[in-house]
Amino acid sequence: MLKMPTFVGVVLSLSVVGFAQDPGVPPGCVLVDDMVVPEEMAHGESGYSGTAWPNGVVPYDFAAGVSSLNRERTRTALAELMAVANVRFVPRTTEAAWITFQNSTGNNSYLGMSGGNQVINLVNWDYRYIICHEVMHALGFVHEHQRPDRDTYVTINWANISAGAAPQFGLSAATTPNAYDFLSIMHYSAGAFSSGGPSISCNAGYTQFQNQIGNLSYLSAGDAQGLVSRYGAPPTPRILSLSQTSAPVGTASLLLTVTGERFTAGDSNPLGTPRTRILWNGTPLTTNYVPATGQITATIAAGLLQTATCATIAVENPFPGGGISAPVPFAVGPTSCPSLVEFSLNSPAASLTIDGQNLGSAYGPALVVRKVPLAPTSLIFQTSAPGSLADTAIVPALPVPASAGGAVTPGFQAINLDLASPGLVFLQGGAFGPALLPTGPWTLGFAAPPPPIVLTAQTMVVDASLADGFRLTQAAALEVPIFDPCQSGTSLMLSDDSFVQQSLGFAFPWYGTSFSQVFVGSNGYVTFLAGSSQKTPTALGLRSLPPAIAPLYGDLDPGSAGTVRFLTDQSSRFGVCFTGVPAAGTALPISFSVIADAGLRVSISYGSVASAPFVVGLAPGFGSGVLFPLDLSTGPHTIPGGSVPHEVFAPGAFDLGGVSLVWTLTSTGVPSGVL
Ligand SMILES: [Zn+2]
Repeated sequence: MLKMPTFVGVVLSLSVVGFAQDPGVPPGCVLVDDMVVPEEMAHGESGYSGTAWPNGVVPYDFAAGVSSLNRERTRTALAELMAVANVRFVPRTTEAAWITFQNSTGNNSYLGMSGGNQVINLVNWDYRYIICHEVMHALGFVHEHQRPDRDTYVTINWANISAGAAPQFGLSAATTPNAYDFLSIMHYSAGAFSSGGPSISCNAGYTQFQNQIGNLSYLSAGDAQGLVSRYGAPPTPRILSLSQTSAPVGTASLLLTVTGERFTAGDSNPLGTPRTRILWNGTPLTTNYVPATGQITATIAAGLLQTATCATIAVENPFPGGGISAPVPFAVGPTSCPSLVEFSLNSPAASLTIDGQNLGSAYGPALVVRKVPLAPTSLIFQTSAPGSLADTAIVPALPVPASAGGAVTPGFQAINLDLASPGLVFLQGGAFGPALLPTGPWTLGFAAPPPPIVLTAQTMVVDASLADGFRLTQAAALEVPIFDPCQSGTSLMLSDDSFVQQSLGFAFPWYGTSFSQVFVGSNGYVTFLAGSSQKTPTALGLRSLPPAIAPLYGDLDPGSAGTVRFLTDQSSRFGVCFTGVPAAGTALPISFSVIADAGLRVSISYGSVASAPFVVGLAPGFGSGVLFPLDLSTGPHTIPGGSVPHEVFAPGAFDLGGVSLVWTLTSTGVPSGVL
């Protein structure tokens, strides 16, 4: 690192030109200035641009003796790189390739990923951009003034270069798609390795940069662009938690602390990377970065807390950073903001399944569905009064007020589910069904499966390939993870009339007993305590199973076609998805999925179901419980505690295709109702 005169002695002390081995320099490699490179490159025999880190993930640790202050300084430098490109520095656990930062008498780094433990030596810990410079070497970047096209922009004054230092100005074969960047932190200064007079002169047309090369004051736009070229664009920052998510009306100003990912201190230099800032309803607040924790804080003024509202908190890494995070709600008032966990639109039935939190809160109509753009006249549905919607609800159809009017362009339709905060939930796509009709009463529905739609908000996906049709799952407030066994479940090997044991990773209560294992059966049920290969779907057969959830108990044969997937979140929910599995001896594919939330509910979604005999129901197991027959297509129903709620379907009589069922549970897993 030669940009500042004070470093010259430091670097020379590394015996640069003698290619001496230094701490952290592996055999076969040498130190050239501050780059550790294979020997042949040092001798000018080949180009080298370093190995990129797979997926931009760089594990790191610190050697003993690195002070907590210097660790903090390093993390602050790393955060700045993470804000502008898809690189991610993670504390090393067991990874085979990683960087160790250590105290040294100079600054140097291996070029690119070595594949094992590689060292970044540092002495100038108090220069953030020296740390960034060395880390950029480790990411595979050579010096800017060694680019193969550098002679177009600068002239190396060989006569002014200290004895033996000429290799520091050799040409690299490394290529970059980006413009020559005089302001790069990877560019030497005019005084580097000088024996008198500038070692580097900017060519005619670029002389305005003569006193700017050797920048160590901010990460240049070109540095960010280079990182993006090699590792991809920066993801948006992400909020993981807020120090508080609500405040009473009339609260005096409060200090909000936000914990998350890709927060950066930025730089005070106006040309540098701006720091991460907190947005209140989209408006930036004065934000501070806390180096010790990597959190950010902002004061929310009392004036913002005088009226009941559901505000949104988001964080932004302004350009060249990754932009604005998904917002999370902040309630000013007595209750929490409503949020949507899951929204299913079932084909071909015109019903919506709405699964959320605090949907019946005091902030106004709990659910408003509008066409986009969000004009008042585009209202197509809203619950009749504040608080009228349960947190889990099935809306059988969407009646449209006569005032709504207006046609929707076929083939490009969109709706907004406005949960008192229009920015929270937004959906639009190229084929959101053909059935939003121009005159009421309207229903939402669709005919042929439309293609998957990726929403503009990154946290939501609509995938029409799912068994139950259209489903929108929002990684809602505070990042409720998307949970979909059909999408991300593990494929099970199931032959005809068999079962497979799966670990849940948590205790799931069922009829008052907790289980940590589940047995997924071929014949459309999951059981606890033991598996079963029972295949004759009768009410007594259901009751005789081990403790069971039977979304579609029948003689199915996943050994002949289709897939069965299993997913657990290891904490409170598991799911099973049958896709395209035929009834035994038939070729008609059957699809359904079930998600069980401990102590809350069992949700079942049916796609196409062939005309075989089935039983749908729940059972405490091994012959216990009173049989409680139901007509599941006419819910809701209340279920007597400890009973065996079920419906028997004769061949051809199954009427739940395209429908979602939600069984509600007590906290100990006793079925209490069905929606
Ligand atoms: Zn360097």
